[in-house]
Amino acid sequence: MESRTKSNHQLRRGLCYANVDLQRGRSPSVIVIGGGMAGIAAARALQDASFKVVLLESRERLGGRIHTDYSFGFPVDLGASWLHGVCKENPLAPLIGRLGLPLYRTSEDNSVLYDHDLESYALFDMDGNQVPQELVTKIGKIFEMILQETENIRQEFSEDMSIQRALTMVFERKPEFRLEGISHKVLQWYLCRMEGWFAADADSISLKHWDQEVLLPGGHGLMVRGYLPVIHTLAKGLDIRLGHRVTKIVRQYNGVKVTAENGKTFVADAAIVAVPLGVLQAKTIKFEPKLPDWKEAAISDIGVGIENKIIFHFKNVFWPNVEFLGVVAETSYGCSYFLNLHKAAGHPVLVYMPAGQLAKDIEKMSDEAAANFAFTQLKKILPDASSPIQYLVSRWGTDINTLGSYSYDAVGKPNDLYERLRVPVDNLFFAGEATSMLYTGSVHGAYSTGMMAAEDCRMRVLERYGELNLLQPVLGEDSVIPLQISRL
Ligand SMILES: Cc1cc2nc3c(=O)[nH]c(=O)nc-3n(C[C@H](O)[C@H](O)[C@H](O)COP(=O)(O)OP(=O)(O)OC[C@H]3O[C@@H](n4cnc5c(N)ncnc54)[C@H](O)[C@@H]3O)c2cc1C
Repeated sequence: MESRTKSNHQLRRGLCYANVDLQRGRSPSVIVIGGGMAGIAAARALQDASFKVVLLESRERLGGRIHTDYSFGFPVDLGASWLHGVCKENPLAPLIGRLGLPLYRTSEDNSVLYDHDLESYALFDMDGNQVPQELVTKIGKIFEMILQETENIRQEFSEDMSIQRALTMVFERKPEFRLEGISHKVLQWYLCRMEGWFAADADSISLKHWDQEVLLPGGHGLMVRGYLPVIHTLAKGLDIRLGHRVTKIVRQYNGVKVTAENGKTFVADAAIVAVPLGVLQAKTIKFEPKLPDWKEAAISDIGVGIENKIIFHFKNVFWPNVEFLGVVAETSYGCSYFLNLHKAAGHPVLVYMPAGQLAKDIEKMSDEAAANFAFTQLKKILPDASSPIQYLVSRWGTDINTLGSYSYDAVGKPNDLYERLRVPVDNLFFAGEATSMLYTGSVHGAYSTGMMAAEDCRMRVLERYGELNLLQPVLGEDSVIPLQISRL
């Protein structure tokens, strides 16, 4: 009896809202703020679910931290370039497979430490002498053992600490791990690579959480033709307004009002905020009423790291046929590495990738000085290196559209921050890599959060109008087409 009463009530409510909507004579509407992977995925999904969608993007281009540049005459990525997790479980696999975009697998390893197999490295000291490969492999194993020791420290201390502090404690407790000379420098290089993964220095990475990230199986695959085709495919047919930097979001009882810097305003039933965490931290978007304290705390407490790329285009290939060239040094700050795109894509291109404090320091330089700095590092490996014919320099840390490269777990912060960042506030939904519980800091993580925010938004808006059953679900099934993976 009770359930019947309830369903009658629901029916009445549904009819009532259906009438309201009929009177309104329009589809449910949403404004998506931010045209990176998360925002575009959300906009696509909601448009496919018959929502009226407007996407506002501050830059004059789409893609955000996906930025494929074609000025060399072929694609190179200044932002994301790997698909982390080359497997059918990767939410982007169906789309990448369908587009026939080739991947070059740089590692089959599923850990965060190695997106490159050990045998694909060539490391050099500052005088250009190559470090014997056996030593590189041996120190790699020692590095793993040291990290295992930090696990004991993690168990022992309830308080969180930095990876750097934990390493210092391991060296105090187990002096046999203290290395000297070239072995010490190679160990620093491994640390430098680890810092590169988090885009942060070891003294700010959380011991408690650094390895809690979920990695999909299948290793790491480079998008040989660049990531941008994925963005363009998803964006087809969307109402996108480039050059619309959002400065204010007002949420009202029956909708949202969004204002852009150029004075234009937009209203809709809901909004999806898919701007980078760095932009939210900078408070350049005013929320009215202000966001709740728990949301503001999540925004300020998640770490945002910096990794940049300085991409050199040479006339000819003059370097060894390995995937990664590295320079070892006394400190991880002094180490460096170059990705050899010739191996993966056939172009005479090397990509220098500084992270953490080094990336910050290099961003203070002019493009020319930054390129000179990177080239000096290359000269340490290959003294006869010829000058590049073209170069590109990214500035993810100071670009006001991003203000950081991707998020990481800072020391001493609770691990539910990503979820708190994701949770909606009334009719405001949040998406973007930093809202991903599982795949923080990645493209597929950003994509999943866009899909999730779209589904939450769809449910919330339609629930309101009693039309839940009328429209297509957002998360449709994709046909699975195998990924095209190579290793030259
Ligand atoms: C150098 C580098 C290398 C990386 N390598 C990899 C990799 O190999 N593999 C991987 O999986 N991930 C990688 N990442 C991370 C990956 O790029 C990001 O996690 C992902 O692209 C983030 O997508 P997003 O949609 O969350 O944010 P974004 O792509 O940053 O999109 C946010 C959008 O919001 C826009 N915006 C900002 N402010 C406003 C405003 N006020 N109003 C309107 N729009 C605004 C921005 O212009 C941007 O287009 C890398 C990142 C960097 C920087």
